[in-house]
Amino acid sequence: MKVNNVELVISAAKPHQYPDLGLPEFALAGRSNVGKSSFINRMIGRKSMARISSKPGKTQTLNFYKIEDTLFFVDVPGYGYAKVAKTEREAWGRMIETYMTDRPQLSACIHIVDLRHAPSADDVAMYEFLKHYEIPAIVIATKADKIPKGKWQKHLKVVKETLDFDPLDDIIVFSSETGLGKDEVWKAVKKRMYE
Ligand code: GDP
Repeated sequence: MKVNNVELVISAAKPHQYPDLGLPEFALAGRSNVGKSSFINRMIGRKSMARISSKPGKTQTLNFYKIEDTLFFVDVPGYGYAKVAKTEREAWGRMIETYMTDRPQLSACIHIVDLRHAPSADDVAMYEFLKHYEIPAIVIATKADKIPKGKWQKHLKVVKETLDFDPLDDIIVFSSETGLGKDEVWKAVKKRMYE
């Protein structure tokens, strides 16, 4: 999909600020620095719409990006940044839980992990949370350009095993650098939009 129209509708701190358009929403979750902003920018064809993180773990808002008047990407603050205070981490948890468990428009969570490494304990906890609440996941294994193509399947296997990946979900090898996987992600998004 070629995206022509993207608008940051709101950075919402509280549920009453969430947009009320009834469009399907895709939450984007991932460890700080995993490549979430780069993923969003690549998907929408912009260089720097989503902020490439300078201060990991800082933004405690949900950013609602409206795409072509048909769906929202909802950027969730990254998790797993060691220097974030416990109180802030708890606030993060409450915000995500409130949004993800009480949002009929939520079609799926796009969960971003790093293809190069086994998912962290935080990655596993995030995926478990999604499965606990029966939220469909589209797992993105990004930074594929950083390892040779011949090793992708081996790494993908480690990612799946570590997450205890549900075969009903999608998992896609991706690179924000090259655009690898972009069409496959749009296909997975469209499939979840009409469920
Ligand atoms: P965020 O904190 O999850 O939003 O991560 P960013 O999008 O800011 O990316 C963190 C760093 O990884 C930046 O230096 C990016 O340029 C780099 N990066 C992100 N995705 C990729 C990718 O697919 N390939 C490569 N080579 N680098 C990437």
